[in-house]
Amino acid sequence: MLTFRELAETCRRVEQTSSTNEKVELLAELFRRASDREAHALVSLLRPQDARDSPLSRLGLGGVALIEVAEELVAGDDFQLGGSRSSRLPSALIQTGDLSDAVVQLLPERPERAEQPLALLDLYRELDRIAQQPRRADRKRFLFALLERLSRVEVWCLMRILQGETRLGASRGLLLRAIARAADSPAEDAERTFLLIGDLAEVAARFVRGERSPAKLELFRPVPFMLASPLPSLRLVPDEDPTGWIVEDKYDGIRAQLHADGGEVELYSRSLHAIGGQFPEIVRAGRSFRSRVILDGEIVAFRHGRVLPFQQLQRRLGRVGVPAHVLRDVPCRLFVFDILHLDGADLLETPLAERRQQLEALVGGDYDAITVAPAQWLRSRGDIERKFHAALDRGNEGIMLKRPESVYTPGTRGQQWLKYKVPFATLDCVVVAAEYGHGKRAGWLSDYLFAVRDGDRLVTIAKAYSGLNDEEIAALTEHFRTTTIRRDGPVHWVEPTVVMELGFESIQPSDRHTSGFALRFPRILRIRIDKTVREIDTLDRVRELYEMQRRGDRPLAGEQH
Ligand code: AMP
Repeated sequence: MLTFRELAETCRRVEQTSSTNEKVELLAELFRRASDREAHALVSLLRPQDARDSPLSRLGLGGVALIEVAEELVAGDDFQLGGSRSSRLPSALIQTGDLSDAVVQLLPERPERAEQPLALLDLYRELDRIAQQPRRADRKRFLFALLERLSRVEVWCLMRILQGETRLGASRGLLLRAIARAADSPAEDAERTFLLIGDLAEVAARFVRGERSPAKLELFRPVPFMLASPLPSLRLVPDEDPTGWIVEDKYDGIRAQLHADGGEVELYSRSLHAIGGQFPEIVRAGRSFRSRVILDGEIVAFRHGRVLPFQQLQRRLGRVGVPAHVLRDVPCRLFVFDILHLDGADLLETPLAERRQQLEALVGGDYDAITVAPAQWLRSRGDIERKFHAALDRGNEGIMLKRPESVYTPGTRGQQWLKYKVPFATLDCVVVAAEYGHGKRAGWLSDYLFAVRDGDRLVTIAKAYSGLNDEEIAALTEHFRTTTIRRDGPVHWVEPTVVMELGFESIQPSDRHTSGFALRFPRILRIRIDKTVREIDTLDRVRELYEMQRRGDRPLAGEQH
């Protein structure tokens, strides 16, 4: 039986060594001594973000609550719960810079507690019980009671765990290596298993049980989704040969994986939780598949042949039982764009173009609430713009570009899939300063500071560096060198002559920029050689867009220039 003390002491030692190999060995030793359930609990505590259902993810006690509990703990016996504050903690916090260290510094030795160490699984169960308490005050009270039962090193470790401390050294990679080493398996086996099942705690349990990595996907065990990287501008589609992509609409809904085996059907969300209960019409449609399949797609609200805005879909989310009138008002549909498994055969390693063929052969036209997302080959660069606008006309938010030869890599965001969506709005801004870039852009003035007009003044609003190609940057570097007015360290303040159209996701108030606003995720859409600084957008326009955003409106298409 593994005790929590063993975990705490291991964590202390892991923190004290700088050798990765030694960290791996220390953690591996824990896994060697653990049962499968203990291994599961170990990972759920050390790495809750990679475990499917860690009580820590449900605890809902943030920094403030932890400090309050810690103050009560170090105040000793004469402290009243919820009463006056101990004044010793803040100074210890300042001294150590860390809550866990501050607490143990102030906590007296607790020899009697050290004599009866708590079993790891008991501690885990207790955290689970705390997480289930609906009232925050109760969760705090029970947590305090739990900490009261622990020795100093255990208090230190639990505080670290509760703080979500990565300083315990338990990165995903480190844990995977430790799990593999304890089972005498190559680290790649553990990595691959994690990719397929997306739950590190479950990987640990399996390896401790001596199960080999799953050579196959399993129905009703969701696979982490493959993701796309953003493409800053449609002009920047990589490749000399622009026909090397499959284009699909980018649906603005929620990602879902459908598992079907005859009458049994389930849908899983991006966080790999079962969500079939919220979409009975899709589950019903899935029952008509004759094959055993795993499909990947996006759920949208859909009526009379049209995709409805995301706000409509939201009415169907997060409900355990969806009321009948919402089901009726907001019918949903799953647009499937990938197939990962068909009748015992895994298709992850099959190129996308072939997976697509299999998908279309299987789903064909329409299964009522399940439809194949149409895909087209990209014919020419001019074609991209057309496809993008056609996608917007269909009520979708943009397009996806996917490499026809790409394999399905679960849980990764690579360059094999690219996404491009319509910006919230666009603004024509002028470049007022430029800086040299980094990496392959070192030597080029490629990072720009942008301004809009406020009467006769120019006020800054964004820094952006993505969206231009190498030739454009080279030409601009020349231009900005000759139009530099003043140099301020690395910053070249330049004459305001170059106007660019920026796309962005939203506008935020900001102290950094003289306009009082900052654009979030700005990207350069194009250089507006047709515009001068007198014609750029104004601060009033920015305020107007900000208000629209607050109201939840989108600027009308015609308003975007
Ligand atoms: P974003 O939410 O902007 O990061 O975009 C990524 C998301 O786009 C994915 O997680 C999917 O949920 C969604 N998506 C919509 N349409 C597609 C599609 N055709 N292929 C892949 N992902 C898509």
